[in-house]
Amino acid sequence: MLYIEHATILTPAERIADGALLADGDRIVALGPAAATPCPPGAQVLDASGLLLTPGFIDLQLNGAFGLDFTATPQAIWEVGAGLARYGVTAFLPTIITSPPATVAAAQQVVSAGPPAGYRGATPLGLHLEGPFLNPAKRGAHNPRHLRQPDPAAVADWSPAQGVRLVTLAPELPGALDVTRVLHERGVVVSAGHSLADYAEAQAGFAAGITYGTHLFNAMPPLDHRAPGLPGALLTDRRPSAGLIADGIHVHPAVVALAWQMRGATQLNLVTDAMAALGMPPGRYRLGDWDVDVDATSARLADGRLAGSLLSLDLAVRNLIAWTGCAPEAALATVTTVPAALLGLGPQRGLLAPGAAADLVLLTPDLQVALTVIAGQVVYSTL
Ligand code: ZN
Repeated sequence: MLYIEHATILTPAERIADGALLADGDRIVALGPAAATPCPPGAQVLDASGLLLTPGFIDLQLNGAFGLDFTATPQAIWEVGAGLARYGVTAFLPTIITSPPATVAAAQQVVSAGPPAGYRGATPLGLHLEGPFLNPAKRGAHNPRHLRQPDPAAVADWSPAQGVRLVTLAPELPGALDVTRVLHERGVVVSAGHSLADYAEAQAGFAAGITYGTHLFNAMPPLDHRAPGLPGALLTDRRPSAGLIADGIHVHPAVVALAWQMRGATQLNLVTDAMAALGMPPGRYRLGDWDVDVDATSARLADGRLAGSLLSLDLAVRNLIAWTGCAPEAALATVTTVPAALLGLGPQRGLLAPGAAADLVLLTPDLQVALTVIAGQVVYSTL
């Protein structure tokens, strides 16, 4: 058992001063004011004085890190996952960009086979397949040779039980809404992205079961006051939540603030879209089929197009607070309760409550990651 005491607990629905939390195995058993939450004999005790205790972070879009790219090397999911605790990430969707079917199948096998013995790291909750049903005109860093027209037969093996949790597609493509209905019924989250959808096409997508937008503003038509398009629909329609890359390069801080004002702590979801260079020095790294040049701030193809980010999820949270002035509890919701709810994991993940996963992060007052617990085990600590 693990007992954390003297923390300021952000559930994030409420703030408990001098709080304590007890985990037994991989579950939270109790939490509340320290006086009302006794420490059982024999528990491992962590003194969290001066620290904030929050749910572990969930990244719905991560292409790789530490020099490794999931699309090129799906087995790297475990090695990368083991390192993500330093950023407070306790669960993630390894993202496979547009690829031949055999690459997707290989990644599904890696996830379905489960972790190697003794694995201590962030939990892959299934794959995010970004493509292959994307609009060629908004393909970004995706290889056009692998793009395909939507076809329900091509997704016959895509389900949560077979390792697929989220699929990004362009809803305006012929057949996209059929694929959306099939996947949505199967429990796969369908997201609009890499798309030229106009406002009506986006709304038709929501009606068919699209519940999310992939990296709002990036690889979409611009927001135009007479033609709001997909970004206008993702900002204003009640149904979807939206992912956003808050690195200050993919989206200007003022537009991050706009998205925050429109979607807020219930429907804005910060993602990293980080690629292999996360946690590494500048240099040349892989993204799918391409070599990507990485400097101190961005990752780009030879023609200057952005090819993923160098953003960590804890930095994204700090950026959101810096650019909007929002409360830490609200910013933290965008990487905890919002992604958990989107995946249908609301009661089990993304919150601190009895019965929920013992995936926890201790943060300093300026929201640097001090310690990360995954499934009840301390996986990363600076204390
Ligand atoms: Zn993308």
